[in-house]
Amino acid sequence: MKLDTLAVHAGQHPDPTSGAVMPPIVLSSTFAQDGPGVHKGYEYSRSGNPTRNTLEACIAALEGAAHGLSFSSGLGATTTILHTLRPGDHVVCGDDVYGGTFRILKRCFEPFGVKTSFVDFSDPSRLEKAITAETKMVWLETPTNPTLKVFDIAALAKITKAHKIPLVVDNTFATPVIQRPLELGADIVMHSVTKYLNGHSDVVGGAIALNDDALHEKLRFLQNALGPIPSPFDCFMVLRGIKTLHLRVERASRSALALAQWLEAHPAVAKVHYPGLASHGQHEVAKRQMALFGGMISFVIKPGADGDTLARARKFLSNVQVFACAESLGGVESLIEHPALMTHASVPAEQRAELGIDDGLIRVSVGVEHVDDLRDDLEQAFARS
Ligand SMILES: *Cc1c(COP(=O)(O)O)cnc(C)c1O
Repeated sequence: MKLDTLAVHAGQHPDPTSGAVMPPIVLSSTFAQDGPGVHKGYEYSRSGNPTRNTLEACIAALEGAAHGLSFSSGLGATTTILHTLRPGDHVVCGDDVYGGTFRILKRCFEPFGVKTSFVDFSDPSRLEKAITAETKMVWLETPTNPTLKVFDIAALAKITKAHKIPLVVDNTFATPVIQRPLELGADIVMHSVTKYLNGHSDVVGGAIALNDDALHEKLRFLQNALGPIPSPFDCFMVLRGIKTLHLRVERASRSALALAQWLEAHPAVAKVHYPGLASHGQHEVAKRQMALFGGMISFVIKPGADGDTLARARKFLSNVQVFACAESLGGVESLIEHPALMTHASVPAEQRAELGIDDGLIRVSVGVEHVDDLRDDLEQAFARS
């Protein structure tokens, strides 16, 4: 079945006891057994819950995966994946990742002996050079956050396969509507469900999808052993959000392309990062790899008349009215933020400078409002800053 159909139906069947079309929210923490060890597949809700299982089946179907797992947050999923590593292991990670991914690798896992090298994969041969005998995982996001570089998943997967190193792709920005990394050779897909999958800015959640049975067993063990599970209520909310995933991502991508083209021609804008623009460094890879170019844009605002870029960026972000100045992304409402001051404040200043996360960089998450209202809002905010 096509993704549009899977988004509405995958993993979901009318409830056999009542015929309820929507999956019941099973809040019970424990399940009655006919006798010791004789149960219907559920014992205790940390190790398994019917509403969670439904969500996990749905996410697996969307990513074309054999297995799905869901978590209390995207970082809960990341924590679980990183726990497959041992002291002495080495990770090669894309250089432009979610600030919290950088933080967990540097501040939580490095003290326990797991070292990470951060590499710009826009030239895939740089991965080959970064791999050592200790490398046990390769991690990337594409498009990247916040500079929206596009990495060639198939080219990178060829290298990780040759070295038998699992490749993890954080597919939060693209969603399975735009790209399915497992089909391109990745071994694990992870999501911050908080963003597009839930899509309504009212749940924090995470997910993993994969095909490998043994790795799935390991992650399933860790999900229960470490405990970062989502609540059944949140699982229901995400299932409900996913039903319109394809509609939301299509609209956001269409509006984002129009806004990116408009921004590129705007006198107040120095540079626009959007994979759908011909000026994007990896536009050809993006055209091949992505069905749509996504709802995320970043751009660099020019300094004000006094030459102060940060002051102008602050003023611009205070002046938006339809957009909300807020962290996060992927909701039905449009959001705008300043990565250096907000989402990427946890990335050290030198690394931010290297990545181009400077005073003028502004990140936009395009929602599903009318594109004319979004453009007018940015225009009035430029005019008043
Ligand atoms: C938000 C985000 C995460 C972390 O997810 P949480 O749900 O906030 O824990 C990871 N990767 C990307 C790309 C994100 O945007």
